[in-house]
Amino acid sequence: MNDFRSPAFDLLSSVTSQKEGLETESIELTELQHLCERSNVGREIFDLIVDLYPICRSITGDGIRQTLSVMTQFIPLQQHEVPSGTPVLDWTVPKEWNIRDAYVANARGERVIDFQRNCLHVVGYSAPVNGRFHLNELKKHLFTIPEHPDWIPFRYSYYDRNWGFCLAHRDLEKLEDGEYEVLIDSSLEDGLLTYGEYYLPGSSTDELLISAHIDHPAMCNDNLSGVAVATLLAQYLSRVQNRRLSYRFIFIPTTIGSITWLSRNEATLDRIKYGFTLTCIGDNGGFTWKETRRGGTEIDRAVKCALRESKEEYELWGFTPFGFDERQFCSPGFNLPVGSLFRTGPYRYPQNHTSADDLTLMSPEKLAGSVALIARIVTILEGNASYFNTSPKGEPQLGKRGIYRKIGGPVIQQNLLHLFWVLNYSDGEHSLLDIAEMSQFAFSDLRKAANILLEQGLLVPSTQILD
Ligand code: ZN
Repeated sequence: MNDFRSPAFDLLSSVTSQKEGLETESIELTELQHLCERSNVGREIFDLIVDLYPICRSITGDGIRQTLSVMTQFIPLQQHEVPSGTPVLDWTVPKEWNIRDAYVANARGERVIDFQRNCLHVVGYSAPVNGRFHLNELKKHLFTIPEHPDWIPFRYSYYDRNWGFCLAHRDLEKLEDGEYEVLIDSSLEDGLLTYGEYYLPGSSTDELLISAHIDHPAMCNDNLSGVAVATLLAQYLSRVQNRRLSYRFIFIPTTIGSITWLSRNEATLDRIKYGFTLTCIGDNGGFTWKETRRGGTEIDRAVKCALRESKEEYELWGFTPFGFDERQFCSPGFNLPVGSLFRTGPYRYPQNHTSADDLTLMSPEKLAGSVALIARIVTILEGNASYFNTSPKGEPQLGKRGIYRKIGGPVIQQNLLHLFWVLNYSDGEHSLLDIAEMSQFAFSDLRKAANILLEQGLLVPSTQILD
């Protein structure tokens, strides 16, 4: 995208118009999937990405605050701030970085590299600079991608005091020999690390954690897609009145944010029964689920069940100690059941961490597919339970209980199979998710069958505690 708006772009007008389009009445859990499949949901998410795109974010600073304040138009996020110098696990909260302007100007005073055109032009966390440099000296601080000469790379130097500019290789080649004026009007001072959190309580304290990194400047798939999908999902979930599970959404700077959050929430981490990091979720690729470090946990299985039902292409990856913030959640001292959900994985698309990760990579249709998939995952987690068949000796006579009439319809045989599977495996040892895996039937169909059988007293909830 060449149409960059300055960081001072007025965000409020478009946000307000979006918000007016969102409905707020409460819904039943069974309606969540439908809500997330509405035709305009992808456009709503896309529009939020458009609003957040130009903001200059980093791991600390006003860009994160500005981003969170836009999101607050959708969900009442809590903003947490942790002072620089605070020890967090093996790390320390860094100084806060803010930037007002930066450029490289030639002898004629023309800005040949200009932060106001694209905030990616400045290496994140660049120390302030104000001086004149010969091109040879300046080049030590310039970064390009020669194999993609039109793209600006995303570079940062968070923990090493330095400065630099990123630019298209084609523009580097145009720089004439001579002296350049260099200004980086930034500050790197004791301040705060900011992150956002939104907690939606359910009747159980068991939590699903959804984590999206929020620090990347002016790039879409990584990770405004994750931020925007999570925001709209949270908005829809807040309307569900009969939530069993509790939900925790965290919007954090990469690595230091998850480390800070973990360090401040260690006492209650045992509530997290399921979780995933949400990133790179708006491109045209199929889905990828990267398993939790434990592997085979209920979230791994619920996601696989939802993927199988989604009709989209997908890949399953085993856990690796690399990637996004799941590295921290799945570090051996925590080993939380947290996987990672994305479409085209990190480092698998050449535009990743460049200016080419722009709005043209975002597909409203795929964004809608992503939020619909998560709604399906949520519905499975909410509805999963195990039961005892109260008439386990032989098949119970369904006809005399009027069950055939209840399940009537064009695919009566199919519906009968759902009932038989649920009745047979409701032995206290198999959950509905187990039965979905064995039978390959849709989870929602088995859930419906279980509801009919519960009504008829043919099932009772198992006292067995599900893992
Ligand atoms: Zn990234």
